[in-house]
Amino acid sequence: MTPSAKTCAIITGTTSGIGAAIARALAAQGHALLLVGRREDAGRELADALRAEGTEVVFHAADLSDSAAPEAVIKAAIAAFGRVDILINNAGLLSHGRAEDTTDAVWNRIMDVNLGAVFRLSRAVLPALRAQGGGAIVNIASDWALVGAKGAVAYAVSKAAVAQLTRCMAQDHAHEGIRINAVCPGDTDTPMLAAGLTGRARAEALARYGANIPMGRVGTPEDIARVTAFLTSDAAEYMTGALIPVDGGATAD
Ligand code: NAD
Repeated sequence: MTPSAKTCAIITGTTSGIGAAIARALAAQGHALLLVGRREDAGRELADALRAEGTEVVFHAADLSDSAAPEAVIKAAIAAFGRVDILINNAGLLSHGRAEDTTDAVWNRIMDVNLGAVFRLSRAVLPALRAQGGGAIVNIASDWALVGAKGAVAYAVSKAAVAQLTRCMAQDHAHEGIRINAVCPGDTDTPMLAAGLTGRARAEALARYGANIPMGRVGTPEDIARVTAFLTSDAAEYMTGALIPVDGGATAD
């Protein structure tokens, strides 16, 4: 395939929720996209829809807990577009439980996907970003990276570690023009939130969560995607190592 002249963004976890909204936001900014996800059918459906609207897009199926996945992802982006400019580490898994409820298997799985995969893919993309003279990485953390959480110890610790990974890598690569920031969503209306609830029960749960948020509602995937897109843009060219809450004020009190 002839390399594209367009900038290329890799986005993980694009088969649902926030990742799909980020894909649409970055497509609107004119980037070529490599979408990464586990579910071929949903991934290809989104890719086909974006392609029909004029975006250069390739779907790459991968389970990011596979240690061979990062090299394959970068290779796929280079093969399709000849370059990588942006990486969005969005894929993640939620777990509930206090320390005594959390088995080693759950702890290890959550750390491996939420932290390990972000680390491995960020490390793997650096040479490609450097080759373009810089680039942007945005990690989708959580507002539980910023404050303590009740009953979600593995998840909250994994997201706090992503925040620290963001700050450390930002310092290490600022001089290369590689900016690394994190978005910290609060409760956001995706399949992850109120998982298993549908219809009226789901609407009631979301309303209950929203009532505890200063702005009076849970976030939408688009709320998160807009800030993510901003962090990849030239408007954020002097930002690196920032952790941005997008939570309707939930962590402001
Ligand atoms: P979601 O469940 O719809 O999306 C998560 C995506 O990650 C899915 O597409 C899933 O397939 C993918 N994924 C999980 N494990 C993977 C693996 N091993 N390999 C490849 N892909 C994998 O939920 P979402 O709310 O859209 O979550 C997106 C990000 O936002 C996550 O990192 C999540 O922790 C974070 N977040 C969500 C909320 C919320 O309330 N929804 C709040 C704070 C942070």
